[in-house]
Amino acid sequence: MLSGACDNLRRALLVVLLMASNAVMAQSCHYQDWRWNVAQQRAVQHTTVIKDTSNLLPEELDVPSGCSVCAEDQQAIRLEGLPEFSVCKRYASLVRDTLLQLIGQGEEINSVIGYRVGRTRGDIDAQGNRRGFSNHSFGIAIDINTAHNGLYGNCVQFGPRCKLLRAGPWRPGDDPFSLQPDGPTVKAFKQAGFKWGGEIEGRQKDFMHFSPTGY
Ligand SMILES: [Zn+2]
Repeated sequence: MLSGACDNLRRALLVVLLMASNAVMAQSCHYQDWRWNVAQQRAVQHTTVIKDTSNLLPEELDVPSGCSVCAEDQQAIRLEGLPEFSVCKRYASLVRDTLLQLIGQGEEINSVIGYRVGRTRGDIDAQGNRRGFSNHSFGIAIDINTAHNGLYGNCVQFGPRCKLLRAGPWRPGDDPFSLQPDGPTVKAFKQAGFKWGGEIEGRQKDFMHFSPTGY
């Protein structure tokens, strides 16, 4: 009788301990979500998502990099002369060191954008909204000098037919802030394991953009 009560007490104590350790181990995740509406050509359905990391959906994780859409997975990078930006913690030292090296060599870099959640890729739902997260959403893509390295459509190969869709015109050779295909910035980020959006296959060329896949 007494030992039974003792067992029950022990069991209750164990449950309390487990709950407490779960509470300590549970990690929260938050991010600002939105979807790109293809028909309206604008961002819609802005929401703030707050959840436990144990409840993350497959789409909220980039498996190859181990990075997620959670703000908690990102690390701020502050470099002299540049506005602060964030990238996934796993990439932070690589991105910071590469930029420091380039700036030290006198490369003209005046803006870098990293982590920025948004569903701008993949399939489209019944309302015309994109469902897939961009690589910026995981903090594994960066945009350099956006005002001088635009995103172009109708651009299998760069030429007069390419149409500037976003940001500023790409004028390599004429504009020192435009990235050159064989220039130091493109070379350094390729060496660091990134691909350049100026060299991706398909109809778009994204001259500001670097990520593990180039997309
Ligand atoms: Zn980008």
